[in-house]
Amino acid sequence: MHPWTLLLALLPALVVAQDDGTINGPTSSASAAGYSCDPNTCKLPTCNCASTSPPGGLSPSEVPQFIVFTADDAVQSYTLDAVNQFLAQRKNPNGCQPKMTYFTSLNYTNYTLVTDWYVAGNEIADHTMTHVGSPPADEINGNLIALNALAGIPMEAIKGFRAPYLNYTPETLQLLKQAEFTYDSSSSASIPVTDPGTDAYWPYTLDNGMANDCLAVEGLCKGQPKLPGFWEIPMYAYFDDRGVNGPHLMDPWLDTANGASTVNDTATLVYMKNTFTAHYTGNRQPIGLYTHPIHVSKTYPGVVVSQSTIDMINAFLDWAQEQQNVWIVSNEQLLAWVQNPVPVSQLGNLDALKCLTPQVEATLQICNGIPQNEAGLLSHCDFPDFPFYTCYGCPSVEPTPENPNPPQQVPTGQNARYRLPANCSTPFWDPIAGDCICTSSTCAFTDDSRPIGVSRTGLTRVAFGTHPDFVVDMYSRMVPI
Ligand SMILES: [Zn+2]
Repeated sequence: MHPWTLLLALLPALVVAQDDGTINGPTSSASAAGYSCDPNTCKLPTCNCASTSPPGGLSPSEVPQFIVFTADDAVQSYTLDAVNQFLAQRKNPNGCQPKMTYFTSLNYTNYTLVTDWYVAGNEIADHTMTHVGSPPADEINGNLIALNALAGIPMEAIKGFRAPYLNYTPETLQLLKQAEFTYDSSSSASIPVTDPGTDAYWPYTLDNGMANDCLAVEGLCKGQPKLPGFWEIPMYAYFDDRGVNGPHLMDPWLDTANGASTVNDTATLVYMKNTFTAHYTGNRQPIGLYTHPIHVSKTYPGVVVSQSTIDMINAFLDWAQEQQNVWIVSNEQLLAWVQNPVPVSQLGNLDALKCLTPQVEATLQICNGIPQNEAGLLSHCDFPDFPFYTCYGCPSVEPTPENPNPPQQVPTGQNARYRLPANCSTPFWDPIAGDCICTSSTCAFTDDSRPIGVSRTGLTRVAFGTHPDFVVDMYSRMVPI
């Protein structure tokens, strides 16, 4: 295909993304919420009341400040390049590279990159197959089926959902619960944490209905919908000088600040820092960078990206990471901590925050989501709309919501590829031989995280260490002097 044909085919996705996720003012209020929840009966890990206080009765000083990093829409090399320019060079306090959540829609997605991104430790979540708001069941469930069949993502690993355009209904949440999703993250926290009526709740279960978006989505709140054990992770807005009247939710760097007529990265950075500080010095509700990476990709043909905007986002993260107990995480990592809210001194014990690297010989030729192993083994599925690569064999037709897992089209002289079974994890599955190369019941992963905890409290990143009462050793441990 001529490159320009491909570019034109991709443009609709770009246009779509620009309207995705804007709010203009409060989306909830206490009276619209009509929310009540009894913390004596609603208890972790399966139930959590919507609350502005940290889970588990912890005081804010014992609580990490989480920055959730998410990306939405198709997965392509240029969108992963965009994410990597913010995360690849960073470390969390335990020495691990931060992980993020990719809400994946499948039109224009290159399936093998989804496999690679997952095997590298990131969370793959559902954003419908063809990017439709208020989606029917086959758009939600087809995404699960196609990601499992063609990207080798275990069904149980796909825990989360975000509605395209953040356009969801009570029925959407019901469908997610029926399909055994763990959480939705489509709602907005639209009132600053410093306002008495803030709706910046920690993630909560819908045992007593929703408490966010009560003014924005019909049929929500006042106890509805009741979905016991199903979580809502609100998306926390930033606020400019106009406070509650100046919210910025997704891609704040594309917005103008303080009612100005043009984008001003300096002004954006100021209000992002101010909002972060309000969370950090308050109840430490999470904050998020909710991105459409295509807008900040330098490798997407034909799109001009401002280097100053990219630098501003990195400056924000640099500044945030200079403060203690700040973690950049995926939604599943955040939720793992909320369900088991250990104080910061015990974070080293939380498996979800560790970095676990699959132990696979570098020379082994196996189509497993590790680039050095799978080189030369990918199938190229040359569909005119959006060609893609996969380890799991090309389907005979493009996957659709009606037919998310079409029969394989097996090239002459080759055998069909074997899809991921339930009892083998992705980096150890050989789809060509149909063999699990991990022979133990718990597959071989190396823990690359640095021990943290009681004996090493105060760990933070290497660049930290300006406080005059401390020196920082080579492992970035803060030592009182
Ligand atoms: Zn989207």
